Parts: sequence; C-alpha cells; structure tokens
Amino acid sequence: MSAITATLYPCAHCKETGACSTGHNGLSCAVCVGEHTLKGEHYGLACGVCGGMGKAEPRTERINKRMAPILAYSMVILLLIAIGLAAYTNKHLSEILAFAGTVIGAITGHYFSRSET
Ligand SMILES: [Zn+2]
Ligand SMILES: [Zn+2]
Repeated sequence: MSAITATLYPCAHCKETGACSTGHNGLSCAVCVGEHTLKGEHYGLACGVCGGMGKAEPRTERINKRMAPILAYSMVILLLIAIGLAAYTNKHLSEILAFAGTVIGAITGHYFSRSET
C-alpha cells in the first residue's frame, strides 16, 4: 500500500528540459512533431513523452492511481462486513476492531484527506 505515492522519473526523451531535441540537428523528433499534430521540421517542441514537464509518470503508476481508490473502497467495505460478522458471532471482535480500525484509518487518511490533483 506504500507504493501509491506519485513518483516522477526524469524524462529520458527530453533529458528533463521539457523540449524535444532528439531529432537530427537538434530538431524535435518525428514522434513529438506527430504528438502536436504538426508536419515537417520543428525546433524545441514540448516533449511528447512527458508533455513538456521534463518529468514523466510511469504508465503503470497511472493505472495504480486509478485502481487504488477502488481497492480502498472495497477494502473498507470488506472490513465493515468483517466487523459486522464479528459483532454478530462475538468472535475475535476486539482483534478485528483493532485491526480494522487501523486499516480504515490509514486508508481514509491516505485517500480522502488530501485533494487529488
Ligand atoms: Zn520529456
Ligand atoms: Zn521527441
């Protein structure tokens, strides 16, 4: 659960400059020219890989970010069910409450306290 924070890696395509100059003679490469729906030769176009930020986000991490809140929600629901069952059967209630309280606290603190950008 700790690998969800945004880790940006330096964009190798533009070498963190944010502008593509990987074509010949410092021109922007064909891929980035295409990204901007342009044709021909262009200098200093915003890097198509990182969007001109100089830093790129791993593709898998983007999926993780989308998946994480869903997983968090289902985790909370599962734990609530577990608490309900434990309260009903009166077995291991204190253990489950302590465990679920910690997990739910961590999840809500992590996902619902900060504004997502
Ligand atoms: Zn780049
Ligand atoms: Zn490029």
